[in-house]
Amino acid sequence: MKINKELQEAIRFHGHLGPYLVLGLLAGELALKKLGCKKYFGSEVAVWGANKKPKSCIVDGLQLSTGATYGKGNIRKFNAKDIRIVVCDLKNKKKIRLSLKAGLLERLGGLKGHSDSEAFALRLFKSRPQDLFESRL
Ligand SMILES: [Zn+2]
Repeated sequence: MKINKELQEAIRFHGHLGPYLVLGLLAGELALKKLGCKKYFGSEVAVWGANKKPKSCIVDGLQLSTGATYGKGNIRKFNAKDIRIVVCDLKNKKKIRLSLKAGLLERLGGLKGHSDSEAFALRLFKSRPQDLFESRL
């Protein structure tokens, strides 16, 4: 399967291809698009429930897609049972809240081994974000 440049760069940064990395890429893109907010300095990102691997891989995807990074201090993570993402547009304080759809969580829980995870990650990358996330502005 063909891997586009954005995904190649993400894999190079993160070290491997996994579904949570892809989910972070797509969630961040969706959030900035819906808020109409600028990458790198325009937002503040908070993520819950991403404290252990593989779920924590979502944080790298979010940093790449939103440009909010630990180095700049505009992304933070918090302990929780379930993954939730809140992106705040700094110019007007508008927020979008994202969570993973129930069917997706089941599928992620059922992944067996490395190649299954990679294949699923590629499928996710080609999905429409609105099929993966519940979002609320
Ligand atoms: Zn990972």
